[in-house]
Amino acid sequence: MNQKIILGIIISVIILISAISLSFYSLYLEEDDKTNLTQNLSGLIKVTDDIYSFGSNGYFSLIMITDEGIIIVDPVNQQHSENMLDAIKEISDKPIKYLIYSHNHWDHIAGGKVFEDTTVLSHEDAHDWLVENPNSNVRTVDETWKGNTTTITLGGDVLELYQFGKSHGKGMTVFYIPQEKIVFLVDILTPHRLPFTIMPDFTPKGWENTLMQVEELDYDITMYGHKNATGTPQEVTEIREYLQDLRTEIILMMNDGVNPMNIPSTIQLEKYEDFEFYDEWLEMNTWRVMLEMGMGW
Ligand SMILES: [Zn+2]
Repeated sequence: MNQKIILGIIISVIILISAISLSFYSLYLEEDDKTNLTQNLSGLIKVTDDIYSFGSNGYFSLIMITDEGIIIVDPVNQQHSENMLDAIKEISDKPIKYLIYSHNHWDHIAGGKVFEDTTVLSHEDAHDWLVENPNSNVRTVDETWKGNTTTITLGGDVLELYQFGKSHGKGMTVFYIPQEKIVFLVDILTPHRLPFTIMPDFTPKGWENTLMQVEELDYDITMYGHKNATGTPQEVTEIREYLQDLRTEIILMMNDGVNPMNIPSTIQLEKYEDFEFYDEWLEMNTWRVMLEMGMGW
């Protein structure tokens, strides 16, 4: 087969997989919701004296309470935000000063209109995308930050924001609370689970680089946008190693002369067999990494 035919087949397969993934996505979220209900991860979850997670339907926001006001990362949607606001009023009478968007994706940043007199902040890359792709449920960004890092200081507490390069979506921000040694990671870390299907809007190599930079931070507690409210630094290393081991195994199979079209359906990574969705998503993960290796995206 010549290269054009192979390329055509690969693109057709990816379009087909994308369509299947999208049609199953709502089903998947409902399943996730059930899991989280059984794990009792809905509502307000106390992490430290001043740091909380708020969860609903498999999505989590970060809440940081300071002496001068409150910072929230990700409103998620209107219902989530209304419930989160009610929950916050039970534990603090401080005003909500900042609402920060973790990245550009609507499923994490809708519902911000619930918070009045609050400054909405995002990385400029997320802001620029939102200007081009407006959504009436997503509140407009008031202030942007640019470059690799910025710091918000409120009531003597510090929240550091990092942009470690391409990983997922636009303007993906890693949140670091140095005084509590906590990092908050949205979409770029779902612990002990394979990356979602075809890794939609992920840049696998950039994702790996971002996680390596996260590992350089001095932290004891991880907080997540999905699956679990909190976790451990080891879970970050696990996913970074998975991405590297997947790439390495693909290269080994290619060097062994395996037909590239057969690699996704035959690849095995025994170390990760107990990760959630290993059987379901390894093949799609492999396609995604192979496409990046072969075509640069
Ligand atoms: Zn996302």
